[in-house]
Amino acid sequence: MSDRTPLIAGNWKLHKTIAEAEQFIQALLPRVSTAEGVDVAICPSFTALEAMVDSTRGSRVAVYAQNMHQADHGAFTGEVSAAMLTELDVGGVILGHSERRELFAETDRALAQKVPAALAAGLVPVLCVGETEEEREAGDTERKLRHQVQEGLARVDAERLGEVVIAYEPIWAIGTGLVATPEQAQDAIAFVRALVAGRSREQAERVRILYGGSVKADNAAELLALPDVDGALVGGASLDPESFAEIVAAALEG
Ligand code: PEP
Repeated sequence: MSDRTPLIAGNWKLHKTIAEAEQFIQALLPRVSTAEGVDVAICPSFTALEAMVDSTRGSRVAVYAQNMHQADHGAFTGEVSAAMLTELDVGGVILGHSERRELFAETDRALAQKVPAALAAGLVPVLCVGETEEEREAGDTERKLRHQVQEGLARVDAERLGEVVIAYEPIWAIGTGLVATPEQAQDAIAFVRALVAGRSREQAERVRILYGGSVKADNAAELLALPDVDGALVGGASLDPESFAEIVAAALEG
């Protein structure tokens, strides 16, 4: 068992109006109120952030955003800055989700700026990395992870690496119902931790590395029990308060 506190984060993507988010959170809060020792976060759309921050105040549930821009301000139509998130008391932000990389042309170069910008503002950055099916089949998984992790963390001071959360999300497992085997998840996440150790052994022991990709209530316990897996980034199963709470409960046992 490591000293790292597990984190279960729910990525809602393009789901839930404010009214739907309120319904969800009222159902979730009593279900996770006793989950001492597990950090819980929900990642609503930008429009529901403020309402969720208000509704979770004083609870154990944190509110993270799904993206932010690296600049403080400027001519970037449609974007949101770190200061705009912290002004709402948002606690963290998902960065480099594969859907942002694939559908919205998010680059490693931008992420190299976003991760330190989030940290500087006091947000917990959740840097997402992971290989495609073709890359795994071609034996390119480690090359891809090395590139994404090294680029994303390049401008983070070594002594702050432990404040970053990394989510290993094999793209072939996101929203597909396919789950990495425990061996695949453990190997990839241990590899990511070794990459961080290349910068700082001490920080590699602190950094939390999550697994993401079709985590559900019935497979969470096995994944969360793996020695290097420090939690989960959950998409589909985070939309239902009961199944999300069951995953949080699995982290308590893991
Ligand atoms: C995700 O979007 O980060 C994710 C892991 O989705 P799902 O759990 O639905 O595969």
